[in-house]
Amino acid sequence: MTVQQPLDAIVVGAGFGGIGSAIQLKKLGYHNLAILDREDDLGGVWHVNRYPGLAVDIPSPTYSFWFEPNPNWSRMYAPGAEIKQYAKDVADKYDVRRYMRFNTNVESARWDEDDKVWQVTVADGETLTARFLVTATGFLSQPCTPDIPGIADFAGKIVHTTHWDDSYDFEGTRVGVLGTGATAVQLIPELAKAAADLTVFQRTPIHVVPKQDFAIPAGLQRLFARVPLTQRIFRWFTDMQSALVFLPAVRYRELRLLANSTAYISSLQRFITIRDKELRRKLSPQYDFGCKRPTYSNDYYRTFTKPHVHLRDSGIERIDPDGVITSDGVKTPLDALVLATGFDIWESNFPAIEIIGRGGLNLGKWWRSEGFRAYQGMTVPNFPNYLGVAAGPFANSGLSFFNMIEYQTRHMDRLFGELHRRNATTFEVTEAANNAFSDRMEALQQNTLLHLGNCAGSRSYYFGPNGETVLRPTTTRTVLAEQASFSLSDYAFE
Ligand code: NAP
Repeated sequence: MTVQQPLDAIVVGAGFGGIGSAIQLKKLGYHNLAILDREDDLGGVWHVNRYPGLAVDIPSPTYSFWFEPNPNWSRMYAPGAEIKQYAKDVADKYDVRRYMRFNTNVESARWDEDDKVWQVTVADGETLTARFLVTATGFLSQPCTPDIPGIADFAGKIVHTTHWDDSYDFEGTRVGVLGTGATAVQLIPELAKAAADLTVFQRTPIHVVPKQDFAIPAGLQRLFARVPLTQRIFRWFTDMQSALVFLPAVRYRELRLLANSTAYISSLQRFITIRDKELRRKLSPQYDFGCKRPTYSNDYYRTFTKPHVHLRDSGIERIDPDGVITSDGVKTPLDALVLATGFDIWESNFPAIEIIGRGGLNLGKWWRSEGFRAYQGMTVPNFPNYLGVAAGPFANSGLSFFNMIEYQTRHMDRLFGELHRRNATTFEVTEAANNAFSDRMEALQQNTLLHLGNCAGSRSYYFGPNGETVLRPTTTRTVLAEQASFSLSDYAFE
């Protein structure tokens, strides 16, 4: 692809964060863009994840751009393929696909102080330059492969959920699943349908609450398409439902009872479904609901009551070529091992590429030595003209990923509006503003479930190495207000 350099902006990541950012940049008048992605298609996590049972676990009307409602969701919780199709449709409608370059692994980005541009190096050694750098790499993009002795020597099929192999047939096989996070909760019931024998290796049990899923009737879809206001009203209810899950975690002092009530629903579901007390005990989390990402399923617990499904929670000692040995000395012979072991979030994701700012400052190293701090979850001093979208310290506003992206594009509206008004070349958040914001978030965080609740033993990726979290400890309404009205003096413009 021949592009005129410097580009207006380089966006790293062609998932919803990258698509939303590019749409916003176009709206702001920037049309010389490149969206770089290491995968061979757009969609981010919805392209990479293709495991059986994949579906959204936030109501679909809420899990979409506000400016682009989709009247065609087939279910309240749409399957993964439909969400990927939605990503394609939005990219095409807003004509941002033409900026996308796939199979392009971005290695690093370096601020060039002389020319006031970002130099972005991709894996084949090519360097692109751009005025603005936007990373939209998500925070679930670096798969975690556990370092268990012998894992490399396993002779059967081994697959991480982010690298699903559609050609492998699980029918009639002996399968092991490692992990019991949100992915495993969706996958295990599906694998149990095919496998002759399924063993789940659990380290930490997870709270699972019923999923109020149903097919959205064709008549209702037609109504949403013809009278968009009806879908807005429907979305208001699904937004409220999602907010109700998140709000008690943020307002834990006042809403402790509500926060804990969800845990009772989860334990009631276990009580009704599982008669075996020992199995029920093993599946019962010993930490508060909300310390970990909530999960929803109507068949996860029931799957463990099937005679060919087994739960092992005694820890894995090693993996042999033909099976898994747990610390009680028992060997489980396996044909296939599925790693539902999630992602390296704090180690290799913040940031997902090397970013070198003013004076050679390395963002990843700086965050690791000084703490993960980013103004409004997006901008960092010494990194001019850089925006981290959809993944940053205190970025996640809880309601849905789309709300976060759209609140962040409001930030871009205000920031770039001022940049244009001043006819400036660069913006850079001040140290004082970044520190004041981060101090405030850290103080507010002390009032949330993550700090006041019983989260010890949850092994939650919500927590960073020094106690910081990705979760914004304010209501979504407050985030919205702040992103649209932050003080412009928090930035220096040149
Ligand atoms: P996860 O929540 O991080 O779960 C990983 C699982 O693997 C945990 O049970 C973990 O145990 C286990 N594990 C990791 N390393 C291990 C080791 N060395 N030995 C034994 N067990 C090990 O990852 P995930 O399930 O992929 O979910 C990640 C996130 O993806 C979710 O929180 C959610 O945000 C997102 N997601 C979204 C949807 C959706 O519908 N929107 C669906 C699926 C996932 P410990 O708990 O003990 O660490």
